[in-house]
Amino acid sequence: MDFSWSDEQLALRDSIVEFARKELNDDLEARDAASAFSRELWDRCASFGIQGMPFPVDHGGQGADTLTTVLALEALGYGCRDNGLLFSINAHMWSAAMPIWRFGTDDQKQRYLEGLCNGTLIGVQGMTEPDTGSDAFSLGTMARLDGNRYLLNGSKTFITNAPVADVFVVFASIDRSKGWAGLAAFLVDRGSPGLEVGQPFHKMGLRTSPMSSLFLTDCEVPVENVLGTPGSGMMIFQHSIEWERSFILASAIGSLQWQLDTSVDYARKREQFDQPISKFQSVSHRLVDMKVRLEAGRQLLYRLAWLRDNDLATPLDAAMVKLFLSENLVTSSLDALQTFGGYGYLTETGFEREVRDAIASRIYSGTSDIQRNVIARHMGL
Ligand SMILES: Cc1cc2nc3c(=O)[nH]c(=O)nc-3n(C[C@H](O)[C@H](O)[C@H](O)COP(=O)(O)OP(=O)(O)OC[C@H]3O[C@@H](n4cnc5c(N)ncnc54)[C@H](O)[C@@H]3O)c2cc1C
Repeated sequence: MDFSWSDEQLALRDSIVEFARKELNDDLEARDAASAFSRELWDRCASFGIQGMPFPVDHGGQGADTLTTVLALEALGYGCRDNGLLFSINAHMWSAAMPIWRFGTDDQKQRYLEGLCNGTLIGVQGMTEPDTGSDAFSLGTMARLDGNRYLLNGSKTFITNAPVADVFVVFASIDRSKGWAGLAAFLVDRGSPGLEVGQPFHKMGLRTSPMSSLFLTDCEVPVENVLGTPGSGMMIFQHSIEWERSFILASAIGSLQWQLDTSVDYARKREQFDQPISKFQSVSHRLVDMKVRLEAGRQLLYRLAWLRDNDLATPLDAAMVKLFLSENLVTSSLDALQTFGGYGYLTETGFEREVRDAIASRIYSGTSDIQRNVIARHMGL
């Protein structure tokens, strides 16, 4: 494995940091307080090519390999403090565009993938239901074939981007007696008869990423909008959740770097007892722990991107990356806040928002308990 970057990759990273710093941080405190998603910032990212980064050029993407995509997302996380926007972008890329690219027909790719890559369409996946979260495959949403369309009945909850999304990858059962083998994935357009998007939820963090429920009442989905084949839903979900677990926290590496740089800078400048607080061992050791977590997470992430580019990645690798990055994002966000003392507790310094945003990472894409279960299974435990 070789993680030395080409001049081209480094130039891309630097240009994204500059773009993100200049273009993506407007009015963040106010947007966070108002739980407001910014379509304008979404469009700026799309114009820069972010949403289409790993997808083929002939479908409107940038054609970057996974390692380059991860570097780009890391750069975005370093320059942009709007973690909600980055979460929405990542959910869109990994849970909607990726399965459509991998399992879509030519017609589906033409109808959806180009728009998802250039940002004119917003997508996301609808799996979780009010009664089925971690135990996702026991979902209750049913799909019944009726002529040349399916009728979907059920509800989904905690759906990122739902208030603004144009297309939903919705999982439902076409035959409950077959269990997971009876699951199918459907491309459900916003505005489909029988689809109701719920009111936006109020959340602890990631507030600029909108979220709501979906209600499906005889929701009409044409047969040509089945993704893959009827019955392949479990395989499609497992594929996309693995990509999601692998890279939904790529931008968090940039956040961890920003938190560390900002905290080190502050600890050098802030004086107490006639010396910089960085000279107190408890402070410097806290910063050291942040550094080690960052570098370890970065190596795990790059390694997984390399494994994906070489078709060697396993569910174990994805679970380890998700678990490690999410738990350390929470810990380091708290450490950064602590380094700033009372100032860290103020909204204006941004650290309390970083903490609130970080907490969700231990829940979405499978909770930390679930990642540990996956890892334990792979260890034969
Ligand atoms: C910010 C955010 C964005 C999200 N976006 C989406 C989205 O776009 N689409 C979507 O479909 N879903 C989305 N979700 C839902 C998310 O996938 C679920 O919240 C998650 O899978 C957990 O399900 P649950 O909330 O029902 O918790 P539960 O499954 O009820 O779990 C409750 C607790 O029990 C623990 N637990 C459950 N089962 C086990 C077990 N077998 N072993 C050990 N502990 C266990 C859990 O770890 C947790 O601590 C999102 C959630 C969040 C917070």
